[in-house]
Amino acid sequence: MMLLEVSRVETFYGASQALFGVELDVAEGEVVALMGRNGMGKTTTIRSIMGLTPARSGSVRFKGSAIEKRSPHRIARLGLGLVPEGRRCFPNLTVEENLVAAARKGRWTLKSVNELFPRLAERRDQMARTLSGGEQQMLAIGRALMTDPDLLILDEATEGLAPVIRHDIWAVIRKLKDGGQSILVVDKTLAELLPSADRCVVLEKGATVWRGRPDELTAEIQDRYLGV
Ligand code: ATP
Repeated sequence: MMLLEVSRVETFYGASQALFGVELDVAEGEVVALMGRNGMGKTTTIRSIMGLTPARSGSVRFKGSAIEKRSPHRIARLGLGLVPEGRRCFPNLTVEENLVAAARKGRWTLKSVNELFPRLAERRDQMARTLSGGEQQMLAIGRALMTDPDLLILDEATEGLAPVIRHDIWAVIRKLKDGGQSILVVDKTLAELLPSADRCVVLEKGATVWRGRPDELTAEIQDRYLGV
């Protein structure tokens, strides 16, 4: 079954149009990579799905229901867990308080998140603001998991992090995938992204221009749309 279906989405910032027809879907248990060069509309697509910058036209369906007119709060409660760009956590709460504040009944508990991220367990009483960038990213993912999402959305989860930390975060993403978690992921490092993805969606100037499996993403397509 399709978990998320985005169809013909057009989104504006005031008078300025940012999305011109985004098509994308995620099936249950799939990892889908949302790709495109800077400014092509990846974050705006995610904001449109989450209701943060609602689509002006087109449709967003989640678990079969139309959600494009719902508030961000209600959308999140339906089972969409966003890890936004910039890894927002409560800086003056401890690691554990951050996790508990996000918690909803479901598969994930403090214990299982701590097992997934042993570094967070070690730092449970530390203020979030004192964590390294990589640890804050782990906390942001942990917080999203604590909401028990059916679909986890990661926007540039590894941006600006050291290679060793990026490696740890990708290992966690693969572990989640192996556990059946559905994920929509935006990332610029193709070498790490492609082996983890089941399918790719490429945006150019706010519209979907290519969809396919990672092994179908030829050098020519990469060159044309991703500039690598
Ligand atoms: P990046 O990889 O740089 O994060 P992106 O693919 O996520 O890029 P978006 O951030 O979605 O792209 O931007 C898509 C378009 O919308 C760009 O032309 C951008 O300038 C514009 N845009 C983004 N945010 C705003 C905003 N708050 N107000 C006006 N225009 C915006």
